[in-house]
Amino acid sequence: MRDAVLPASAARQHEDGSTSAALARAGVSDAAVADILRPFLSGVFLEDRLETSARFFHLVWRSMVRGSLCLPAKGIGAVPAQLADGLPGGVLRLGTPVAAVTDTGVLLEDGSEVPARTVVVATDPANATRLLPDLTVPDTRTVTTYYHAIGRTPMAEPTLMVDSTGAILNTCVLSEVAPTYAPRGTALISTSVLGTDLPGRAQAVLCRLAELYRTDTSGWQQVAACTVEGALPAMLPPWPLSRTTRLRPGRYVCGDHRATGSVQGAMASGARAAREVVADRGQGGDAGV
Ligand SMILES: Cc1cc2nc3c(=O)[nH]c(=O)nc-3n(C[C@H](O)[C@H](O)[C@H](O)COP(=O)(O)OP(=O)(O)OC[C@H]3O[C@@H](n4cnc5c(N)ncnc54)[C@H](O)[C@@H]3O)c2cc1C
Repeated sequence: MRDAVLPASAARQHEDGSTSAALARAGVSDAAVADILRPFLSGVFLEDRLETSARFFHLVWRSMVRGSLCLPAKGIGAVPAQLADGLPGGVLRLGTPVAAVTDTGVLLEDGSEVPARTVVVATDPANATRLLPDLTVPDTRTVTTYYHAIGRTPMAEPTLMVDSTGAILNTCVLSEVAPTYAPRGTALISTSVLGTDLPGRAQAVLCRLAELYRTDTSGWQQVAACTVEGALPAMLPPWPLSRTTRLRPGRYVCGDHRATGSVQGAMASGARAAREVVADRGQGGDAGV
């Protein structure tokens, strides 16, 4: 209730600790944590000890109790596509990997150079520290998601199921949430587990899905298994919910690892980078395109 009614800034006001300690302090019973909160939050934090920053937990919990979970009909790529639509033509180059940030701009992997006095590195933490070796980045969490395509939905509702045994993190019939995710009359199921796709894991997942959906899954066709290394930063307390993007004159870094591990955090950090670049330019600093 506190998270629902207080402003987001309230999450910053308390000394940070683990989510596990915050839940105990709030009087949430061990059974509620074991049966519901730990299984659910493990899928949000991508760790199952609830050692993640309570500040981040309160921010996420606030969003979840005030709104609802959703999936964009055209996939998450629709969000950057909408942002890009608002840009003037010719300012965005896609599929152009940067090999190095140099004293005079950036060196592209094709060997060409782009001169720039201001460079904002907006990559994942591993690439950010490769491009900016003086940057410190947090450890990261890894997740694997299995996708199964079947002829008929095993559950005709858009519900995220969590698993208190810990065998999987969560599963849901994606096509019940967003019908555009599978051809009409078929179903796409997504199931996530912590870590990588170890040998035998896909089969164990299928067995657990048979129990959770109470159906025979032996004929389910696995269409993909996606492991994302560095899917989220490990947000250990004390975790500042937002960090400056200024690294040194003319060099900035933004992304979820500079704020919170979420789309919201990534966009907030990007907006902060824009504000800091504009402010530095206004002061006649080293910034300039
Ligand atoms: C499976 C999964 C599910 C998730 N679900 C949710 C969710 O439901 N809600 C939520 O809020 N968050 C979710 N997240 C987290 C969210 O996706 C991330 O927090 C967010 O995408 C981070 O955005 P970012 O811009 O910081 O980094 P990224 O999204 O990692 O973007 C960095 C970009 O930099 C590019 N890049 C890297 N190196 C270079 C280089 N050398 N040159 C040029 N480009 C480079 C990459 O190609 C990439 O496009 C999920 C993450 C995963 C993996």
